[in-house]
Amino acid sequence: MFKLETTELDRAIQNAKALHPKVRMIRFGEYQVSGSKGNNYIVKCYRFFGEKVVECTCRTKDGVACKHSVSALPLHLHVAATRLVA
Ligand SMILES: [Zn+2]
Repeated sequence: MFKLETTELDRAIQNAKALHPKVRMIRFGEYQVSGSKGNNYIVKCYRFFGEKVVECTCRTKDGVACKHSVSALPLHLHVAATRLVA
């Protein structure tokens, strides 16, 4: 799990571009992201004590953004923005 505002995302974004994963929305705030070995990870975006946090089922340690999370984020932010005006 990592906080959206405070985490350095650049490296994860570079890794995500290299991986070019498939992202599928399971439900709002929950996304399935394809991994590098044909496996899938579940990324969850939610609020935790007022902080926007992202959680992934891969083994990236807490406080570090993984490539799966940043791959799911654009879709999540898009859906979140759409919901605000809907
Ligand atoms: Zn991950």
